[in-house]
Amino acid sequence: MTLWTFLAEQPAYFITLATLLGLLVGSFVNVVVYRLPIMLERQWQHEAQEVLGLEHHAHERFDLCLPASHCPHCGHRIRAWENIPLLSYLLLRGRCSACKSAISPRYPLVEAACAVLSLVVAWHFGPTLEALLALPLTWCLLALSLIDADHSLLPDVLVLPTLWLGLIVNAFAVFVPLTNALWGAVAGYLSLWTVYWLFKLVTGKEGMGYGDFKLLALIGAWAGWHVLPLTLLLSSLLGAVIGLSLLRLRHHPVNVAIPFGPYLAIAGWIAVLWGDEIYASYLQLLGL
Ligand SMILES: [Zn+2]
Repeated sequence: MTLWTFLAEQPAYFITLATLLGLLVGSFVNVVVYRLPIMLERQWQHEAQEVLGLEHHAHERFDLCLPASHCPHCGHRIRAWENIPLLSYLLLRGRCSACKSAISPRYPLVEAACAVLSLVVAWHFGPTLEALLALPLTWCLLALSLIDADHSLLPDVLVLPTLWLGLIVNAFAVFVPLTNALWGAVAGYLSLWTVYWLFKLVTGKEGMGYGDFKLLALIGAWAGWHVLPLTLLLSSLLGAVIGLSLLRLRHHPVNVAIPFGPYLAIAGWIAVLWGDEIYASYLQLLGL
């Protein structure tokens, strides 16, 4: 009996395994969210200096692997036992083992969130190919949401390959037929592109970024065009409720731009998992 047939017969093991994997990946998501924007910024600076013919200063190597993780306060290098998702944070009581400065609770929270999202995906799809593909999509959407919340940036290096992957996956009709996925990607991009230009023509301001169009195209490529109205509705509702309460809490001026990516990602994730059910229920409501 292979591992896969075993897991297919024992969904509880599959769900547990997916949750533990989610916890480990959550730790890596923290690394990507922190390091990828810095890597991109250095690359852009480097390119700009090259274009302008300025000499550039060579940086030390900085990528997803190097330098090794260290405490931002004292430079203490994180040892393997201090790097276990969630557990280390609890064992260290949220403090650096060398200088005792507080470690941001955001790291264990992201790990826990990644584990819970992975559990939901494994639970929803069971031990199937859909689950194996929806898991990496979920991790990618989590990383994109956090990067956009921090930097108002949805990096192409994450969005575009995931968009292509959605089309490739649906070439085998895993989530929706390819035609549906293709028009989903096109309509996802064009709908927000249209909103962007109308808003810009009327108000002279930019309401969102090109990253948002590509993210909705990604969601369309995975879940099909029929979930796009639902995704837009849900993300606007989330943006209005969460965004406005955050503005209240932090006393931001009202005209400050709120990143829209996290709400699109949450709504898109819900659409990938429950889009068909929700779509069927609103057709029923409309009496179709
Ligand atoms: Zn320290």
